[in-house]
Amino acid sequence: MSIEELARENVRRLTPYQSARRLGGNGDVWLNANEFPTAVAFDLSQQTLNRYPECQPKAVIENYAQYAGVKPEQVLVSRGADEGIELLIRAFCEPGKDAVLYCQPTYGMYSVSAETFGVACRNVLALDDWQLDLPTIADNLDGVKVIFVCSPNNPTGQLINPQDIRTLLEMTRGKALVVADEAYIEFCPQATLAGWLEEYPNLVVLRTLSKAFALAGLRCGFTLANKEVIDLLMKVIAPYPLSTPVADIAAQALAPQGINAMRERVAQILVERQYLVSALKTLPCVEQVFESETNYILVRFTASSAIFKSLWDQGIILRDQNKQPSLSGCLRITVGTREESQHVIDALKAEKV
Ligand SMILES: *Cc1c(COP(=O)(O)O)cnc(C)c1O
Repeated sequence: MSIEELARENVRRLTPYQSARRLGGNGDVWLNANEFPTAVAFDLSQQTLNRYPECQPKAVIENYAQYAGVKPEQVLVSRGADEGIELLIRAFCEPGKDAVLYCQPTYGMYSVSAETFGVACRNVLALDDWQLDLPTIADNLDGVKVIFVCSPNNPTGQLINPQDIRTLLEMTRGKALVVADEAYIEFCPQATLAGWLEEYPNLVVLRTLSKAFALAGLRCGFTLANKEVIDLLMKVIAPYPLSTPVADIAAQALAPQGINAMRERVAQILVERQYLVSALKTLPCVEQVFESETNYILVRFTASSAIFKSLWDQGIILRDQNKQPSLSGCLRITVGTREESQHVIDALKAEKV
């Protein structure tokens, strides 16, 4: 048998997640991964690298609980929110039997993680306005254990109607988890569902330090849920999911000063987003600029593939969403610095319609 043939069938068939980093590109304007455009400096305060780290570092858990307005027992910290997605699937879905459900267009890791573990994927397409198609979801819940709802949704940028999420939570009570992926919630903090945890034992909220906290390189994310869910995830998590330097920096980023700095960054991004939206709307190559509650903007272009390629060749790297259902002609642009926005606008102005 070849090495290829030794691998699991579902792994051989798997298309890996096309992360912004894997797609490469040679640029100086990186607007394809929804990162914060500039780096925040930290000093390490822990020098005990001879010791194994805490599995769930107390300072990180307590700071995050305080920030999110939940109890420490309702917080799990992991190697990015992406690991949270994996842990939920591993703890709740029986391979070859159970399924996860999500509504495209949405974040790509839900399907990649499920496929990796041999768990079936059910994709109930979003409605024309990218809201949940509740009747079709209701008809497709057989065997579904985990439902992923990204709000605000990546890559469309809009919030999912909270009343619909309530209906979904009621519909699935005692049957499935509803996972609200709030990776971008810092850009619209009033919309969080964390306050609903008391009401819904089947609600899970995913968070990350990768976006508004400007720490994508740290790899640190959070799962908020009731204790029963957290205890199950704790059974399948690695013994030392976070390295000591990661825990050290995360605790600093989540201290009051770090939270204030994050809020200032968010305010700055919202100003830049307004600037970029207004400028995009004046361009002839732009067909539609969609409302965004996040640090990225989804834009429909008259000739998106040519524009994507042309900007790529000029070192301006955007994210092509053209292949996602209902997103033909769409590119996603991360809100960067004013200078970066200006580069994008100037390049788009030079495009032929
Ligand atoms: C960026 C992102 C994540 C991943 O966050 P990490 O903490 O970097 O793993 C999860 N969900 C959505 C919707 C994202 O955009």
